[in-house]
Amino acid sequence: MSSIEGVKSIADADVSGKTVLVRADLNVPMEDGRVTDATRIERFAPTVTDLVERGAKVVILSHFGRPKGQRDKKFSLAPVADALAKVLGREVKFASDCVGELAEKAVWALSDGEVLMLENLRFHPGETENDENFARRLAVLGDLYVNDAFSVSHRAHASTYGITKFLPSYAGLSLMKELEALSAALDDPQRPTAALVGGAKVSTKIPVLENLMARMDQIIVGGGMANTFLLALGHDVGKSLAEPDFVDTARAVMDKARENNCEIVLPSDATCAKEFKAGAEAEVCALDGVPSDSMILDVGPQSIADLKMRLQDLKTLLWNGPLGAFEIEPFDTGTVEIARAAAALTKAGKLVTVAGGGDTVAALNAAGVTGDFTYVSTAGGAFLEWLEGKELPGVAALKQSDA
Ligand code: ADP
Ligand code: MG
Repeated sequence: MSSIEGVKSIADADVSGKTVLVRADLNVPMEDGRVTDATRIERFAPTVTDLVERGAKVVILSHFGRPKGQRDKKFSLAPVADALAKVLGREVKFASDCVGELAEKAVWALSDGEVLMLENLRFHPGETENDENFARRLAVLGDLYVNDAFSVSHRAHASTYGITKFLPSYAGLSLMKELEALSAALDDPQRPTAALVGGAKVSTKIPVLENLMARMDQIIVGGGMANTFLLALGHDVGKSLAEPDFVDTARAVMDKARENNCEIVLPSDATCAKEFKAGAEAEVCALDGVPSDSMILDVGPQSIADLKMRLQDLKTLLWNGPLGAFEIEPFDTGTVEIARAAAALTKAGKLVTVAGGGDTVAALNAAGVTGDFTYVSTAGGAFLEWLEGKELPGVAALKQSDA
């Protein structure tokens, strides 16, 4: 089961004069050799600053793109080192390999408080293969290992998993923050607690629903996936995105949730259109009034009003997946209105809000509320696996590490 018990924070370790290998996820968006979105770098920077201020020699490990185990200039981390230097306001040295003589010399040349970034881990096939020898070659570079990359912790790679066998291993500040936020929403939430699960398809979120129903008081289902539930209840959803093959699954989810005393909340009306494009004419439909040539593209105004009422009584909200096809107006209405209501309650100290998922983050950004949520995870796959209740190898390895 996913939990954070047994994970040691680097905040509690003595790092002065030590060489600390920090695994970050600096796989940032880049165009023409320039970083176009520094969000990941900005989130990671405080970990580096803290280590520097405590007198450590900081050596940063990361992957970038998918060079498939071969050196490829296109995937060099050198521009990312420059971008990190700007955010930190201090020099970041760069070594053009992450293991071997080049890396070793660069590490040995470091003084306390200096920062070095090593070239893309994935230039070596041993990284994704979790090759023991490659992990050892990384480990010889440092005294301590820190994982500060939640978003790659669902992968058992040499730099997230294998290396912990050879070095005392800790969670970095941003990993710790992410684990604490997810744990606060999932392991021991203040109740009543609800998960809002939306997005396109039920089929991709069955393990999520099964794990959540054991932990949440309510699961609010929205987005395209709600359509399959509506089908299961005998509603005609017209041309909506739905998965008839998963109607039985939806029924089983509803039955099992009932056994778990978890209420499944479905939309009570819908916003429909005949086409999914900008300027399409949208109409509000009752659940048994969806025209056969129309699609449900968002929850309707009654559902939005009901959900806002519901939020008032909650203490914790965990959110993954938009309530509608938010990419095109006005089908972002449900997502935006509920996001703003949840953000306002969070700001007022009445609700803990934890959200994640690629499209969810985009939708919350568009609604302008990301900063008002308690925590927004930018990790895609790792966030979903955590919601599924899986133990992430990169987190598990930190607990087992007694090197
Ligand atoms: P996340 O990336 O946050 O995990 P998902 O990928 O599961 O979220 O779902 C996001 C997608 O779901 C978006 O592309 C959105 O357009 C789509 N979606 C939501 N509601 C509907 C709907 N009613 N009909 C069609 N697509 C929908
Ligand atoms: Mg998505």
